[in-house]
Amino acid sequence: MPPRERDLHTIAASNGVGTDKAFGAVTPPLHLSTTYLFPGFGEEGPYAYSRTANPTRHQLGDTLAKLEGGAGAVVTASGMAAVDLVLSRLSAGQRLVAPHDCYGGSYRLMQARAAQLRFTVVFVDQSDLAATRAALTDCALLYIETPSNPLMRVVDIETLSSLAHAAGAKVAVDNTFLSPALQRPLTLGADFVIHSTTKFLNGHSDIVGGAVICKSPDDVAALADWANTTGVTGAPFDSYMTLRGIRTLFPRLERQQHTAAVIAEFLQAHAAVSAVHYPGLLDHPGHEIARRQQTGFGAMLSFDLRDGVPAVRAFVEALQVFSLAESLGGVESLIAHPATMTHASMGAQARAVAGIGDGLIRVSVGLESERDLLDDLSQALSAITA
Ligand code: PLP
Repeated sequence: MPPRERDLHTIAASNGVGTDKAFGAVTPPLHLSTTYLFPGFGEEGPYAYSRTANPTRHQLGDTLAKLEGGAGAVVTASGMAAVDLVLSRLSAGQRLVAPHDCYGGSYRLMQARAAQLRFTVVFVDQSDLAATRAALTDCALLYIETPSNPLMRVVDIETLSSLAHAAGAKVAVDNTFLSPALQRPLTLGADFVIHSTTKFLNGHSDIVGGAVICKSPDDVAALADWANTTGVTGAPFDSYMTLRGIRTLFPRLERQQHTAAVIAEFLQAHAAVSAVHYPGLLDHPGHEIARRQQTGFGAMLSFDLRDGVPAVRAFVEALQVFSLAESLGGVESLIAHPATMTHASMGAQARAVAGIGDGLIRVSVGLESERDLLDDLSQALSAITA
């Protein structure tokens, strides 16, 4: 009988442990050397130059590929470099279909590349299947982000992937908000998974990194080649840190999403809050899809304050445990105001189309005590009316 594949918890905690041949180090070592000995004249070993391949980066890529169920991974210097690497598969005249409410930086990059005539881009509301099907005519790549940043909209990866494949397009899913601990897009039909490893995978807000995991070995080879050509591969130290973060990915997320669910319910019952966007809530429009395609509802949520910007200002100025900062997925709880922070670059009109209002607040729930977080939100919400 072939050996059973290891469980994902085990892969996260121990992939690569005990494989060091030089000293028998239990923890995979950090290899900083930029260059590697040639075994002999005209003979190249597995590593020659770190931009092309590096043992520490390889260890991280191998772990990510196993966690996502892909043929391989390309580890990049940032999440944006990972997005751009996937977009590099498109050639002039080809069409990209992307969500109208994706991360602001991805939106900006797609628009900028389209302005350089690298491809054409159409932004659609992907929860509208008829509109998405229409946009997919002549499409080469469907880009999905679910749950979306910052509105936590959930779309059906399996249905959208079959629509895209029927139209001859490949599918890329940005899985940053959930990580493979809670969602595995390649098993639902996607061809590429994109990560900002800066977020939940590293989990400690102390490195910037990214990765693309591909279903097919041909795509891995093509993307690795282009990442080497353009020099966007990730740094060994950042790879080491990210792998260290991944060791605790499952228990971190388990705890963080538990607290997120408690916070979502608390906010929903508060008079100053007009809407809460959390896929775990029964009345969230994507709840049933999330239940089906995710193994948990995640640690991200957003909510609208009834009284707009003045209320946002009073609220964030009163916070003491949550920090007002961009980014997400770390052990510390963060609050962001998308309209003036993460999604400012989209412009007011695009934000309005995507439904990102001026009263919207995004929350990344960390590992602090549930009681301290609830008390902080409660006192900051009271500051709005004080
Ligand atoms: N994708 C999503 C969903 C993000 O939230 C971000 C950053 O916030 C990125 C991609 C870009 O990642 P990075 O900041 O690591 O370049």
